[in-house]
Amino acid sequence: MTIDKKVLVTGGAGFLGSHLCQRLVEQGNDVLCVDNFFTGRKVNILSLLDKPNFELMRHDVTLPLFVEVDEIYNLACPASPVHYQFDPVQTTKTSVHGAINMLGLAKRLKARILQASTSEIYGDPEIHPQPEEYRGRVNTFGPRACYDEGKRCAETLFYDYHTQHDLQIKVMRIFNTFGPNMHPDDGRVVSNFIVKALKNEPISIYGDGQQTRSFCYVDDLIDGMVRLMATPDTVTGPINVGNPDEVTILDLARLVIDLTGSKSELIYKPLPQDDPLQRCPDIGRAKKYMNWTPEIALEDGLRKTIAYFDRLLAD
Ligand code: NAD
Ligand code: UDP
Ligand code: UDP
Repeated sequence: MTIDKKVLVTGGAGFLGSHLCQRLVEQGNDVLCVDNFFTGRKVNILSLLDKPNFELMRHDVTLPLFVEVDEIYNLACPASPVHYQFDPVQTTKTSVHGAINMLGLAKRLKARILQASTSEIYGDPEIHPQPEEYRGRVNTFGPRACYDEGKRCAETLFYDYHTQHDLQIKVMRIFNTFGPNMHPDDGRVVSNFIVKALKNEPISIYGDGQQTRSFCYVDDLIDGMVRLMATPDTVTGPINVGNPDEVTILDLARLVIDLTGSKSELIYKPLPQDDPLQRCPDIGRAKKYMNWTPEIALEDGLRKTIAYFDRLLAD
């Protein structure tokens, strides 16, 4: 196998990071995975540990990092509301100090760097679906602020390192993504619903379940991420990447029950503060600049994810 590039993936032991590492290793890159294992797990990257072109380093991105690489994917940050709200100060530090350190590293190395940003940039949106030009409606106080504002500040840092230091940047706004390698206690809606359904335990709907999300299967998302990194220097983003197929949370619960043949009942709990009522990406830019559209339907992605959790719970 000929080694292509040296690629750093921060947050590489997490849900998305582990799929990205897998893809980059398969492509013949020399991959350095950096993670502090806050939400990530070694088991996600177990099959890569004996590969000659994969290396794992335990490190917190809020601290400086001196390594030599050609490209950086900056994914380090807890993504589930339950986990990013556990230590909100650390969440902001991870987004902001982490971005500064990874941008400083990229600047020294003249390396191309991609930021895993988020649809949370738009907060609880008044415009639907959300195009990149929309500036969002985010609460600077409140339980989601540490994540939303941390990610917004990181985008600003990326933009300023690009204009001030001529850095090659790519900012990707990721919308809700799901698939294998999600932690059973991740806390996000797809994994929560599937785990409860497989155990025939009650499924909790927050609010009336009429809020919407648009769910992208992980393989499509990773395809978009690798494509964005490969775009010409002039493409910096931000670019939305997600599946525009929008569903209510109640319909998602019914679909999961249907696909698992579960006996779970639905129970209703209060809607958490600042929970966005609707979310759907406008993916015009992703189509135009990356020739990307998602290919895996929600139901097909759910089947694969159910099979993963079924195996996991059986162990
Ligand atoms: P995840 O929680 O599974 O993975 C995050 C990884 O980052 C974990 O392995 C964790 O241990 C690591 N990490 C956290 N803080 C760190 C630190 N200070 N130093 C080093 N490592 C650290 O979440 P995910 O779904 O894989 O999300 C990955 C990235 O994509 C995140 O930046 C997230 O904000 C972004 N994103 C994800 C989604 C989604 O739907 N999955 C949506 C929008 C944005
Ligand atoms: N940094 C790093 N690795 C490097 C180069 C820089 O972690 O290889 C960190 C460094 O600790 C600094 C941050 O990145 O705090 C920002 O670097 P930059 O060069 O932009 O700023 P400065 O060093 O001037 O503060
Ligand atoms: N949700 C729910 N039950 C759960 C987990 C989440 O009803 O067990 C709802 C949540 O209130 C939100 C949506 O599902 O409206 C998506 O939540 P998630 O935490 O997955 O991600 P978000 O997009 O809110 O960051």
